[in-house]
Amino acid sequence: MSNRPEITVVVPAFNEEANLGPLHERLVVSLDGCVTDYEVVIVDDGSTDGTWQRITALAVADDRIRGIRLARNFGHQCAVTAGVDAARGEAVVLIDADLQDPPEVIPQLVEKWRQGFEVVYGRRRSRDGETVLKIATAALFYRLMHRMTDVDIPVDTGDFRLMGPRAVEAFRSLPERNRFIRGLVSWIGFPQTSVGYDRQARHAGVTKYPFRKMLRFAIDALMSFSFMPLRAATVLGFGVSTFAFIYILVVIVLKFIGVSWSGYTSLMASILFLGGVQLIMIGVLGEYVARVYDEVKRRPLYLVGESTDGESEVVPPRR
Ligand code: UDP
Ligand code: MG
Repeated sequence: MSNRPEITVVVPAFNEEANLGPLHERLVVSLDGCVTDYEVVIVDDGSTDGTWQRITALAVADDRIRGIRLARNFGHQCAVTAGVDAARGEAVVLIDADLQDPPEVIPQLVEKWRQGFEVVYGRRRSRDGETVLKIATAALFYRLMHRMTDVDIPVDTGDFRLMGPRAVEAFRSLPERNRFIRGLVSWIGFPQTSVGYDRQARHAGVTKYPFRKMLRFAIDALMSFSFMPLRAATVLGFGVSTFAFIYILVVIVLKFIGVSWSGYTSLMASILFLGGVQLIMIGVLGEYVARVYDEVKRRPLYLVGESTDGESEVVPPRR
């Protein structure tokens, strides 16, 4: 454990060439002030611009920088996982490459860790430079997650956080393919706390989370941490059955006392209604079945194409 750095900063980067230089400068300034020994692991998540060239240049200039290039774009959460797997430091700090999470907050995270907290997450006090739609949907999402899941996922926190050694060990052991990192880290437990910060506008480039991807992310998060949609199906089923039962009795009684009417409208209405409800619920079931299928295939979460130190394995350790 002799040459183990105190902190590893993990940076997922997908087409972020214009951000890496400024990020490096600011990281160095804020880390030099608070820890003696650190490394920065930048994970190139299948970028198509000059991101990898930037990373290799940085690694040549500064030997505390290591780069890992994934075999293709595996997605933000997998890129972060790859970085955590590769981290040699005691504690791991996750930070976005676009400078939305200010590196200047890292000393505060480290300070809390030294006070004994195992997980210190950044809580967004404000968000700058993001669309009203993004801010509104994000606020709704965090509150919905809070209500629908059993794990206590703090509202308004992203992946910007510090994990201590025990949390990192626990995180590495989690086997699921479907990774909602904020949820997983909350699930881990240990003493956790937050540090407030103001989320900045993106330094350069555009968001890699357009609305469609954000929706996918939200659904994935919800499904991997909640059975609520399934329970809703059960409850709805009971509700509809109760109503149907009463309605059947009414219809029979009416038949016996000689009241009858032509039933095309009510027939069509009930057939279409039930058909719709059933299809929706089959869809909900299908979403879970698809996730189960994804898990049992047990494919690796990501594959490594190359790394600046030439030491990483293509296939990550089995978890
Ligand atoms: N990212 C990634 N792979 C992806 C999408 C995003 O590694 O498929 C990285 C991206 O480079 C950034 C971080 O994840 O460092 C957060 O993405 P982004 O800033 O686009 O999301 P937003 O802040 O807009 O929610
Ligand atoms: Mg961003």
